[in-house]
Amino acid sequence: MSGGDGTSPVWRPFTQHGLNEPVPMVVRTEGAALHTDDGRRIIDAISSWWVITHGHSHPRLQAALRRASERYDQIIFAGWTHEPAETLARELVAMTPEPLRHVFYSDSGSTSVEVALKMALGFWANTGRPRHRIVTLQHGYHGDTIGTMSVGERGVFNRAYAPLLFDVATIPFPAPGAEQVTIDALEAVCRQDPAPAAFIVEPLILGAGGMLIYSAAVLRAMAEVCARHEVLFIADEVMTGWGRTGTRLACEQAGITPDILCLSKGLTGGALPLAVTLATGPIFDAHRSTDRSRMFFHSSSYTANPIACAVAVENLAIWRDEPVLERINALGAAQAGHLDRLRDHPSLTRHRQLGTIAAVDFNGGRDGYLSGLGPWLLAFFRDRDLLVRPLGDTVYVMPPYCIDGPDLDRVWSAIAEAADAVAARDGLPGRG
Ligand SMILES: *Cc1c(COP(=O)(O)O)cnc(C)c1O
Repeated sequence: MSGGDGTSPVWRPFTQHGLNEPVPMVVRTEGAALHTDDGRRIIDAISSWWVITHGHSHPRLQAALRRASERYDQIIFAGWTHEPAETLARELVAMTPEPLRHVFYSDSGSTSVEVALKMALGFWANTGRPRHRIVTLQHGYHGDTIGTMSVGERGVFNRAYAPLLFDVATIPFPAPGAEQVTIDALEAVCRQDPAPAAFIVEPLILGAGGMLIYSAAVLRAMAEVCARHEVLFIADEVMTGWGRTGTRLACEQAGITPDILCLSKGLTGGALPLAVTLATGPIFDAHRSTDRSRMFFHSSSYTANPIACAVAVENLAIWRDEPVLERINALGAAQAGHLDRLRDHPSLTRHRQLGTIAAVDFNGGRDGYLSGLGPWLLAFFRDRDLLVRPLGDTVYVMPPYCIDGPDLDRVWSAIAEAADAVAARDGLPGRG
């Protein structure tokens, strides 16, 4: 059975239904693979959209899920609490830099960012110095809700909604050699009157923007500019968190502490939806009062779902008990080796890597007739039982940390094969 035969009532995310592309039915997930109803084993080279960290259906996470589901379902979180949420919050505060002391729960990366923006504006409103402007980085991505689209890159993805998106100040991406341009632009925006409320950024690597990497030194310099001008620094670690970049949090590599930190995706190891927004004492204190009109006016129905929190607590235990960083380092080394072997391939450019993430651009190049290469690549990988989902002409590999050598080899062999096909102009779109 397939969901792609036109009879399914499901309206899928980021899917053009008019193209009738196949939608395989997954019946089981395990380790680095999805298993389909027609008996295929698909290697999940993108961690099911960046959420699965240790591996699919991790036994410890599944067991924690079963245990918690025996005791809880959903519990209202305003005025009530439960042990998984309390434990998780304490542990998150303990694992992040000291100034981050308060944990607000929500249920997706987008909501964690919406909460971050509201916290920042609330801070300025409640301390009697209202500021509203948000500064963003070119090519950034923070989610698909109206607020998060507003602070993200504008383009075909949000053109229809553009009139509703709020104005932001955007500074240029720190391209290699032009880092100072970015820092100077941030400095200039921060000096403006009225001053901005906050700067939001994905630390070290812009994910949906095309796996664009910049240095820890630039991240650090941006944080310093913000601190100097009292502009709140929001780190959106929804994708970068939980080891993807080689350290548990990307901010660690720059030695910085954001004022507000967003985490989701790998927070539960990817097993269940959950998100947190961590904030410093001053941001929390700006909302703390005997005056009810100053409280933080935000909640989602499923705030701090106890089962999801219990799974996240178990995820943190896995990080404590198992050599997760060693696995990440080994995966990073393997990725580097594969990338290196394709270094001189004529179809590939901009080889890049950060921690467990490796990316390369397919260079249709010469006559530029390769627009539409993304869908061709998607089908190419699908035909080889690989879940690789290019971002335009960028192919990236961001697997669960448990992926073994042979599976990773298969992914990179297919990338090499696709690159050869492009070089030979074999079966490509636009050809008769
Ligand atoms: C995925 C992502 C989000 C949005 O998370 P959702 O759970 O899809 O809402 C926000 N920020 C970044 C950096 C992301 O990669």
